[in-house]
Parts: sequence; structure tokens; C-alpha cells
Amino acid sequence: MLAEKSAKPQRSCVACRKVADKKQLLRFVLAPDGRVVVDYRQQLPGRGLYTCLSRQCLEQAVKKNGFRRISCSQHESIDLKQLYTQLQWALEQRISGLIRMARKSGQLVAGSNQVLDAIKGRTPISIIVVATDISENMGQKIERVACRHQVMFFRHFDKALLGHMIGKEERSVVAVINGALARSLMSELDRYELVREN
Ligand SMILES: [Zn+2]
Repeated sequence: MLAEKSAKPQRSCVACRKVADKKQLLRFVLAPDGRVVVDYRQQLPGRGLYTCLSRQCLEQAVKKNGFRRISCSQHESIDLKQLYTQLQWALEQRISGLIRMARKSGQLVAGSNQVLDAIKGRTPISIIVVATDISENMGQKIERVACRHQVMFFRHFDKALLGHMIGKEERSVVAVINGALARSLMSELDRYELVREN
């Protein structure tokens, strides 16, 4: 009975058929206009279809016409690039939300010097996100410190977007203190790494 209670809903990937917790997979639904869209939060109504969050499975699903189960049109081709764009947008929203929550709950440090001071002062930082347009010297300095203190280091978004996420002007660095929020953020940042090249 305990096992039943803790069992999470399972779904299988249309490309590789692997069965996993549905939250680990990506959900797609058919939008009212007939397009297949990513349902990142898994909340949209309608029949869903799942894939692993991997380039390989997404590409396979498109190639093998795996979306036909939810798509009305037999011949409509699914634009992989468009799916990546949607996914990237959804992830940016999710990451912004988590960073904003971290700020509201006092788990965020922003600004290069503040982050460096926090690490040196033994604040338990677990993630650092550095803007892609930070000065080369400062970027490298923070990366070295992060490595030495075994803090996860990501280089995503530009200064304007990082600042926007926390309701400020530009910010070149933000860091999140160890905890459940940081763990969620880390898994979303890992996912972002998989899709952002497109
Ligand atoms: Zn798969």
C-alpha cells in the first residue's frame, strides 16, 4: 500500500519507449490552432504525448512522426527548431520564477563582489549563474572561485535578463544558497543547457 501511495504517474517516451516519472519527461499537446506545443508545466488540457528531454529523443520523435498521435494532420511536419524555441522560452520562464523566489526568500546573492564575498565568508552558496556578457576577467575569476569551493557554475543569459529576473537593472552574477530551491534551479539549468544551442 505504501508503494502504491508513493508511486508517481509513469509515461513512456514516444521515441525510445523508456518509461519514467511523467515529471521527468517533456509533455506535448495540440494547441487550438493545430500546432503541437510544449506543455512544460504539464497543466494544459488535452491529450498529451511525452518524450525524454534529450536532443536524440526529440529528433527521433519528429523524424519518426511520433507526434501524429496527437496531431490531426497526417502531413503536417513538426518544426524541431520551433519546439526548441518554445522549450527554451518555457525554461527561461521557469528559471526566472525560481530566481525570483530565491530573492524573495532571502536565498539569493546578486552582484560580482557580493557573490565573491559571500563565498569567501562561507555562505553556503550552491549555484552561481554568470551572465554571458560579463567582463572576461571577472567571469574567469568567479569561475575559479566556484571551482575551488565546489559550487555549480553556469554561464547563461545576458546581464539585462539576469537583472530583469530579480527586478533590477543589469546584473552580471547571481548566486543561490543551498536548499530545495537551489536543487530545483539546478535541474532546470541542466535542462536549459541541453536546449539553448538551438
Ligand atoms: Zn526517450
